[in-house]
Amino acid sequence: MNAQQPHTPVTVLGLGAMGRAIAGAIHRGGHPTTVWNRSAGRADDLVAQGGVTLAPSAAEAVRASPVVVVCLLDDASVRDTLAALVDPLAGRLVVNVTTVTPNQARETATWAAEHGIEYLDGAIMAIPEMIGLPVASLLYSGSQAAFDTHRNLLELLGGARWFGEDAGLASLYDLALLGSMYSMFAGFAYGAALVGSEGVPAAEFAEMAAPWLTAMTGGLAGHAEHFDSADYTAETQSLTFNKAAVDTIAEAGRDQGVGTEVIAVVQHLIDRQITAGHGKESFARIFEGIRRPPTGGGGNEGR
Ligand code: NAP
Repeated sequence: MNAQQPHTPVTVLGLGAMGRAIAGAIHRGGHPTTVWNRSAGRADDLVAQGGVTLAPSAAEAVRASPVVVVCLLDDASVRDTLAALVDPLAGRLVVNVTTVTPNQARETATWAAEHGIEYLDGAIMAIPEMIGLPVASLLYSGSQAAFDTHRNLLELLGGARWFGEDAGLASLYDLALLGSMYSMFAGFAYGAALVGSEGVPAAEFAEMAAPWLTAMTGGLAGHAEHFDSADYTAETQSLTFNKAAVDTIAEAGRDQGVGTEVIAVVQHLIDRQITAGHGKESFARIFEGIRRPPTGGGGNEGR
């Protein structure tokens, strides 16, 4: 059941590219919308379209609505901004969609609870142009009551999924997905540099790489089975076989005069496992050196 009244007033703090997209979608959804931004001028377009109110101060913006969406640059800007708003925020809901770490989200949730503020942490799997479209996906964690009550409002921004009362979970999933994405893009950059060393345009390479990488995502579930079971029995290729391939990929990079840092990371992960005696196991075994680095986090030594 969704108990939300249709047009809960909403305040948006932060009118960068994402905050403006969010405020616009909430306003189009019929909610009285109040906005505030540290620097002047960011609300001009929204206000010119009519119906969005620019508050003269953050405190006045907060007092205008029971729901306050916070979309600032980073955790430090959120802390600085919210610390000055303890009194007006009391009894209201903060939905913080700023990108933060899980621990930062948990700390803000604890701070909010100490001050009588309801808290929902959000993570945006979208760019501003996607906000309000079905392709946008937002992850939430923290107050389930707030998520359930305001689900219709949250779905104005895109698909909405709640991950648990632990406020850090939305960010955990967000950063896990982004970490996978950045690694893939870095790998693509290496491939583009390699063929680019012989004058092949990156655009031409992208046409080949996109279907290749898409096909390779079919292997994720198999890797996950190894990860979850911690059984790395190789069905086909062993780590020793993969080492030969990856070393050749790196040697080609050196021969062609391109940077090999990206592929060197993969070499390092493989070598770590082979050194530890796992050369006959599958490539998925590199997961063990990532999830339990010997130094207890971000470790660089073999396991
Ligand atoms: P942005 O365009 O750079 O805007 C940053 C906003 O933060 C501005 O409103 C800025 O105010 C404000 N700000 C920065 N420092 C501040 C401080 N110390 N005190 C008060 N306000 C401060 O960034 P954005 O694209 O809107 O992104 C906002 C959040 O959404 C980020 O956490 C980002 O990671 C996340 N996100 C963005 C995207 C995207 O594609 N853009 C995608 C997913 C998630 P001023 O105007 O005064 O500088």
